[in-house]
Amino acid sequence: MGAIEWLERAKRVLVGGVNSTVRAFTRPRPLIVVRGEGAYLHDAEYGRLLDYVLGYGPLIHGHSHPEVRRRVQEALENGWLFGATTPLEVMLAEKILSYVYPGGKIRFVNSGTEATMLAIRLARAVTGREYIVKFDGCYHGAHDYVLVGAGSAAAHIGAPKSPGIPRCVAEKTLVARYNDLGSVEEVFSEAGESIAAVIVEPVIGNMGVIPPAKGFLEGLRRITRRHGALLIMDEVITGFRLAMGGAQEYYGVKADLVTLGKIIGGGFPVGAVAGPSEIMGNLTPEGKVFNAGTFNGHPASMAAGLATIELLERLGGPSRAAEHARAVEDAIRSVLDSRGVTYALNRVESMLQFFVGVEKVESPDDARRADKNLYLRLHESLLRRGVLVAPSQFEAVFSSTVHGPREAELFEDAFRAAVREVLGG
Ligand code: PMP
Repeated sequence: MGAIEWLERAKRVLVGGVNSTVRAFTRPRPLIVVRGEGAYLHDAEYGRLLDYVLGYGPLIHGHSHPEVRRRVQEALENGWLFGATTPLEVMLAEKILSYVYPGGKIRFVNSGTEATMLAIRLARAVTGREYIVKFDGCYHGAHDYVLVGAGSAAAHIGAPKSPGIPRCVAEKTLVARYNDLGSVEEVFSEAGESIAAVIVEPVIGNMGVIPPAKGFLEGLRRITRRHGALLIMDEVITGFRLAMGGAQEYYGVKADLVTLGKIIGGGFPVGAVAGPSEIMGNLTPEGKVFNAGTFNGHPASMAAGLATIELLERLGGPSRAAEHARAVEDAIRSVLDSRGVTYALNRVESMLQFFVGVEKVESPDDARRADKNLYLRLHESLLRRGVLVAPSQFEAVFSSTVHGPREAELFEDAFRAAVREVLGG
């Protein structure tokens, strides 16, 4: 059966033919993927696609890496769900904490969404306060506390929040402007005594890619400390991608709690909250802040995460993925420069995005001013040439440690042809 038939069948039973909103944005149709291997995916109609979406971030070593597969298979030999602690989760916890919070603790959950939900509950409990501050354009998952002024697929809905979120919940989420410490000071001067935490994507990866301005994260650290609020860094994307110690290490700013996901599960479902033992010890069963999950610390995710991080260790960190992203950046710049196109390109290590029609993107508002339609046309033209980039201006382009010089050449040729097709000449 071909892709079109599968899609018709999918649309009869799955809302929009997908199980996560952004998957419907791929133009001209959602992909029907039958296989992934290394830097490539295989769509039932387009065939092989050079993949820069990489499952939206987890696949730092590309698709079906043999070492990750071997470790998961080994784990499955012993069964796959016990409702009890396993050596695998102890080993992954030790490994992650050695980079992120030496001497601290971690709780594994099943998604980034669950991780940010739990981190916020924990922050509210330990501070005895109810308000949180998030930033316009940052995305922290699909739950009620953070689906206010959110990026990623939510940015396309064009509403400040999703219908169905009780007003009394949304009211507890205050929205400040990213890279604008003045807006944070303002929120704190109005509600400082009631704010439990500031949650931030240290690099926004859900509005294209937007790095923190110099001093922004340090400023958040200072302001939260001054007001007795916690700083939660949402490292679901940046953890083990910017550096082994994530954005905390990369930018030299320590958060009170970190949320993780994506790479630490090696492509299997995962999320985690990590922090100092004094804070983490408030979670049940040591403390009273409730968390539970049938699938928390699932052996397949733990085995894949361990294999993924150990592979990164053997490579001396994630910089090989960043090397390829630099080549992609060079290709985009050389093609767009040669055409005299006005654009901005932001890259932090192995995450990048380009924005046509604007000179700089330092805030979500700058990103919104970019030519989103042109981006989509480029995306579609690239797809027909066998290259998959993020299907929305508001997602990041990711590279992996298995994208090499051959892929860089393929990308540049396809990008040059796509630009020629879309811009003419
Ligand atoms: N936080 C960030 C920064 C994310 O990018 C995402 C997902 N892209 C999430 C949280 C939610 O993670 P999940 O999709 O695993 O629930």
